Amino acid sequence: MHAWLTHLVNPVNPVYWIQWIQMVQLTEQHLTEIRQHGERDYPYECCGLLIGKFADDRKVVIETYPISNAREEEAKRNRFLIRPDELMRGEKRAREQALDVVGFYHSHPDDRPVPSQYDLEHAWPTYSYIVVAITKGSADGLRSWEMESDRSRFNEEEIAPSPAGRGLG
Ligand SMILES: [Zn+2]
Repeated sequence: MHAWLTHLVNPVNPVYWIQWIQMVQLTEQHLTEIRQHGERDYPYECCGLLIGKFADDRKVVIETYPISNAREEEAKRNRFLIRPDELMRGEKRAREQALDVVGFYHSHPDDRPVPSQYDLEHAWPTYSYIVVAITKGSADGLRSWEMESDRSRFNEEEIAPSPAGRGLG
């Protein structure tokens, strides 16, 4: 069962919150790709897709899919947006490999790796949102988030190491 369905069933049980840990699994290579993309696009925001699989209790990333930032030059500094045609291209690529888009990543140039209000307003439940901080051109913190099912906030999720990017069954 996906996390957001669980939340709908049992939205306010605090014991459940403690027990339920969101998780996204990536390889070191994926994390390096995300950090390097963020450094490459600095001082602008980078963004991309996370392609992989929804498993019972986690999302498993199989590959990162870098895409450009669709915003105007000035807005690139603080607002990430993925154009529908870019998302469709990524989804097509995922489908060709019998995979799904399981999340998104983007960078926060000279800011914390915490989703902004803008990010919250443009996010969907279920997906992972990885944010990498780029401080003075170098990758700094990297954290992953999943939106609350009622869209009120993001909850941090655990980033678990994955032994290999491909061939996970
Ligand atoms: Zn952001």
